[in-house]
Amino acid sequence: MTTHTTRMLIIGSGPAGLSAAIYGARAGMEPIVVQGLQPGGQLTITTDVENYPGFRDVIQGPWLMQEMQAQAEHVGTRMMWDTITDVDLASGSPFTAKGDSGDDYVGDVLVIATGAQAKWLGVPGEQELGGKGVSACATCDGFFYRGKKVAVIGGGNTAVEEALYLTNHSHDVTLIHRRDELRSEKILQDRLFANEKISVLWNKAVESFVAGPDGTLGHLELVDTVTGERSTLEVDGAFVAIGHAPSTELFKDKLPTDAGGYLMVEPGTPKTAIPGVFACGDVMDHTYRQAVTAAGTGCMAALDAERFLAARDHALREAQAAE
Ligand code: NDP
Repeated sequence: MTTHTTRMLIIGSGPAGLSAAIYGARAGMEPIVVQGLQPGGQLTITTDVENYPGFRDVIQGPWLMQEMQAQAEHVGTRMMWDTITDVDLASGSPFTAKGDSGDDYVGDVLVIATGAQAKWLGVPGEQELGGKGVSACATCDGFFYRGKKVAVIGGGNTAVEEALYLTNHSHDVTLIHRRDELRSEKILQDRLFANEKISVLWNKAVESFVAGPDGTLGHLELVDTVTGERSTLEVDGAFVAIGHAPSTELFKDKLPTDAGGYLMVEPGTPKTAIPGVFACGDVMDHTYRQAVTAAGTGCMAALDAERFLAARDHALREAQAAE
């Protein structure tokens, strides 16, 4: 077991964590980033990124995250291939976090950038058929449905993007939405409606995922959310794309969360209720949830972390001088 100490400990390696690291490293805080179960975060399971500023042409999510990590390392960040399983916030700064590897990480400040993860419907068959036809990531699993029939459940940007992406593999994609209008951006809706390989089932909720004779997904049981009428849809694959939930399990009963489970911060800042603990990115932002806003709040966390340490160091020097 090794104890790794740093001025700035960052949990999470998406745009928020890596932006905090870039700013933190340049401010001399020699950050450690503990990468977590999904190094690079949600962008590593996206394909085209068209809205991250600075790139005229479409870029790939995984590539963007590799570049961010390389930049963070280039300016002095230490990346740790580990997952935090427990944190001690009660004792105040310095904060200790335990890694799955058995190592401890100790930081004078802690930046929480654990992001969010896909939500599931929680209906029968969904868990049982996970990896056997049911997935939450078209870009990871879409390839397996070449020439087959697939459905996407949801009406936001993720669902529409996944449906569009799946047309690279499948000629028959059905988007299933519980209402009669989509939540996604208009530009994506226009592409969706113009794509002949995609049809939309409006006002339908999935009641269950049912296996076929071979044990993989065979069909979906649907209910009309307006009329209550029941129907079935035969599919080989179904992609659940109904949004994300913040990854806050580690901080349960340690930091206040809002009704949606997002970490609460002082409005307009990344400051949590505990001095020296900052939260940035999707774990604290239920409104914008973009790569660029996550990067922005990561930068804010690093700037506030720097100020926190400067004030603390100043107070310590004053106390020592007074002795
Ligand atoms: P959203 O929260 O935007 O959308 C979730 C969708 O799933 C909604 O249409 C919602 O329906 C539906 N839904 C939620 N719960 C259920 C349920 N239990 N049963 C059936 N349907 C359900 O999540 P997204 O993941 O799409 O997007 C998250 C954020 O990320 C957004 O801010 C989005 O703009 C952003 N994003 C941006 C992208 C881009 O800019 N290229 C790409 C992907 C995401 P209803 O509409 O009825 O509430």
